[in-house]
Amino acid sequence: MPITHEQAQKIVRRLARGRSIEGLAELLAPVSPEERPLPPPVPRPREWSGEALAERVAFLEDRGHTLEQLSGRGGPPDPAELRGSIENQIGMVGIPVGVVGPVRINGLHASGDYYVPLATSEGALVASYDRGARVLSLSGGAAALTTTEHVQRAPAFVFPTMADAALFAHWVVTEYDRLAEVAAARTRHGRLLDLSVHLQGNHVYLILDFHTGDAAGQNMVTFCAAAICEDILERTPRAPTSWYVESNMSGDKKATALGFSHTRGRNVTAEAVIPRDLVTRVLRTTPERMSEYWRVSFIGGVQTGSIGVSGHAANGLAALFLACGQDVACVSEAAVGVTRLERTDAGDLYAMVNLPNLIVGTVGGGTRLPTARESLRLLDCDGRDTAARFAEICAAVVLGGELSIVAALCAGDFARAHQLFGRPS
Ligand code: NAP
Repeated sequence: MPITHEQAQKIVRRLARGRSIEGLAELLAPVSPEERPLPPPVPRPREWSGEALAERVAFLEDRGHTLEQLSGRGGPPDPAELRGSIENQIGMVGIPVGVVGPVRINGLHASGDYYVPLATSEGALVASYDRGARVLSLSGGAAALTTTEHVQRAPAFVFPTMADAALFAHWVVTEYDRLAEVAAARTRHGRLLDLSVHLQGNHVYLILDFHTGDAAGQNMVTFCAAAICEDILERTPRAPTSWYVESNMSGDKKATALGFSHTRGRNVTAEAVIPRDLVTRVLRTTPERMSEYWRVSFIGGVQTGSIGVSGHAANGLAALFLACGQDVACVSEAAVGVTRLERTDAGDLYAMVNLPNLIVGTVGGGTRLPTARESLRLLDCDGRDTAARFAEICAAVVLGGELSIVAALCAGDFARAHQLFGRPS
């Protein structure tokens, strides 16, 4: 992602917070299972009996997690608690939740071994992500890094002529400090970070970038942008004939080229080096074949006009978003990214996933749902300053899923796995 020197300095300050930038390497370094043993895998995987389910629940509860809601023991929430989440409620949709892990993550914000809940009705998905988590953990874990974090609202103003629009644009950029104060009065945790202006004939588009704390932030940025627009309208030297709080230029719930080259939500990268031996033993293929497949699929993606190229990032993200109370429609932008697999000089496999539009939060929106709160607690993402941790967990899970699907395609297991897990019998 191209960034300005000012943004680059902010990122370096953020990464270096409390440590030297050189210390990052130590933080992100793999920790092998010999050095720190892995916690046990989820018991009785791929068993569909009530006893196996109860054993998996007990396994997590024995580790201090509460699964009152996820296991169904808590019953449905009181309809009154769902105000802010649903109108005209008639019930709840039941989507099964599985768990994968442990997935070892050595991130700037996520550090440890995580059992990750995934909600889906797509057979084979959990098994595939579980295999990916296993191979990452046996390799010493996925390194994960959140760099930029911001969410946009993009109001537009319509003027009679281009000259009026230009005068407005010239004025509004000088108002940045005041507009930041207007936003600060509307939210305790949000902050206006940047303002860019786009002149299109007699239209002016503003892109307002906000930091949204631990919230995904779509409501927060809407309310702040509305307050900013009202302040602008009271004081502008040229009154627009009309204006809109969102011009369709923020990338909200869309895969956009702008989002790909900028950031919408959190820009997160996860990487790992998978030893050759694990590629052959667990993934049943070779680094050479996975690397070649990546080149083939990359060219395949280019031919479709894909924004970014990845395997099935949307699968893992949709399942995580459902389990953890994220806005599922935002998978449309969150799944835009790049996956890269390469054979290293030593003959191992380098794997990387970059998700520049990961719009997630650990407060607000659907995270208030009782099942979502339990899922977030399972991931140690309940509380202050946990949204970047959740984002790094998402990226690591996606990386595992990418490894597993590419391996299945390379080993000729793709159809067989779906035959095995994707049909009732
Ligand atoms: P929200 O629930 O509307 O707002 C987050 C709330 O959490 C704010 O009241 C915020 O207070 C508070 N908060 C407490 N601790 C916080 C912390 N540590 N960091 C950040 N905020 C904290 O949620 P949202 O994230 O802004 O919006 C997400 C919802 O918007 C989702 O349900 C999504 O489906 C929906 N959505 C809305 C639009 C839209 O255009 N309005 C578009 C797409 C999606 P302060 O504000 O005082 O800081």
